[in-house]
Amino acid sequence: MRNPNIVILGAGYGGIMTAVKLQKSLGANDANVTLVNKHSYHYQTTWLHENAAGTLHHDRTRIQISDVINTSKVNFVQDTVTDIKPEDKKVLLENGELSYDYLVIGLGFESATFGISGLKENAFTINSINSARLIRQHIEYNFAKYNNEAEKKQERLNIVVGGAGFTGIEFVGELANRVPELCKEYDIPREKVRIINVEAAPTALPGFDPELVEYAMNSLEARGVEFKIGAMIKEVTENKLVFEKDEQREEIETNTVVWAAGVRGNSLVEKAGFEANRGRIPVGDDLRPEGYDDVFIVGDCALVMNEETERPYPPTAQIAIQQAEQTAANLTRLIRGEDHLEPFEPDLKGTVASLGHNDAIGVVFDDKKLFGWSATAMKKIIDNRYLLKLGGVPLVLKKGKLNFFH
Ligand code: FAD
Ligand code: NAD
Repeated sequence: MRNPNIVILGAGYGGIMTAVKLQKSLGANDANVTLVNKHSYHYQTTWLHENAAGTLHHDRTRIQISDVINTSKVNFVQDTVTDIKPEDKKVLLENGELSYDYLVIGLGFESATFGISGLKENAFTINSINSARLIRQHIEYNFAKYNNEAEKKQERLNIVVGGAGFTGIEFVGELANRVPELCKEYDIPREKVRIINVEAAPTALPGFDPELVEYAMNSLEARGVEFKIGAMIKEVTENKLVFEKDEQREEIETNTVVWAAGVRGNSLVEKAGFEANRGRIPVGDDLRPEGYDDVFIVGDCALVMNEETERPYPPTAQIAIQQAEQTAANLTRLIRGEDHLEPFEPDLKGTVASLGHNDAIGVVFDDKKLFGWSATAMKKIIDNRYLLKLGGVPLVLKKGKLNFFH
């Protein structure tokens, strides 16, 4: 009898952790495990805002897949998935196709643009190494260009960030650190540069602890971030952003809009015919969509309901990693001929968000609030713990955040 084929799509948190766990739990002759990813590297999406602002080089964020995958146990295919055909148990790639007995989908998120006029064409998003690198270059180019034009254009120095969710807040925190450096480098007075965060809800970080939200806003405002709260972005053009606040239409001249106002699951999963909600596939507690016993969904493509709140769990790296561990364990059971799968029960350890390299906020262990240095240190501990799980001490030493004082 031939070995079953396990195909894992995407080497984000969900995909790569499934592969790493399977290479430990399965023997080389138990199954053929194949991991497919667009790039030769895995990146830590949770650090991309730093790469986009230019406060951390992207080589710190990415990890070569060959550094963490045991290629005698997992076959790595660098290619782009173009179609998933669940009825035929096949995956189409730009350069070939793969057949599976078990499929793990970990293709991650895309920006949700809600049909806002001009957004797709004119705004930047933080969702990959390539997109983050482009934002860094674009901001720097505009600073460099500013003093080379006879007519000084303010639009080059107005940086607008759409959305004050965790991504928007973490990104403006990095910008607040980076902009003074850029001003020095390009001889631009700091007061000429505006960092503007536009949020539609009545508060930044809607739903988060109000005391921590206030702390975050004070910290960011003190470093020159302006907030437009209750302001709904309506349109983006090449050199302006339009929003509506208190039923008034307002414009900001800018050629740098970074859209951080929402995510959805990878559109390939909808295209494959799975029932989806904003690109996320409802799955049972074994992380399989109804009617597909051979498909597991991990990470931002999966929609898991929290029975207590009757709302879906948010798409986070924390959950993606736990789902991957669960899926690898359940696949191992199936390969060994067991038919009882363990249910997924998230073990939420809290939320910590950075406000630049020297400040942060968080709630951990149910209700312990963290501010400032303790939150910054906790964020680094979380990041290093992930690297330890993924590649052991050598990876922590190579890529970890080991300086707790900066
Ligand atoms: P992803 O990390 O998105 O990975 C998907 C992978 O699939 C990528 O490697 C991609 O290259 C690959 N891929 C995509 N399409 C294809 C294709 N067609 N073919 C082949 N490969 C493909 N969550 C937290 O818990 N804590 C945080 O502190 C935190 N910070 C964040 C900061 C930022 C700036 C952002 C944007 C998000 C943050 N999140 C955080 C959310 C978290 O990053 C996501 O929930 C997480 O990345 C989801 O993991 P994933 O494995 O589903 O997908
Ligand atoms: P989000 O959906 O959490 O926040 C988007 C924000 O944009 C919301 O506050 C929303 O009100 C606002 N918005 C939507 N449309 C708008 C419009 N037209 N105009 C102005 N504002 C608008 O998205 P996110 O911040 O990208 O986070 C995505 C996921 O990643 C979440 O689950 C989040 O928890 C997670 N994440 C976690 C961390 C962390 O734990 N440190 C960091 C980043 C992201």
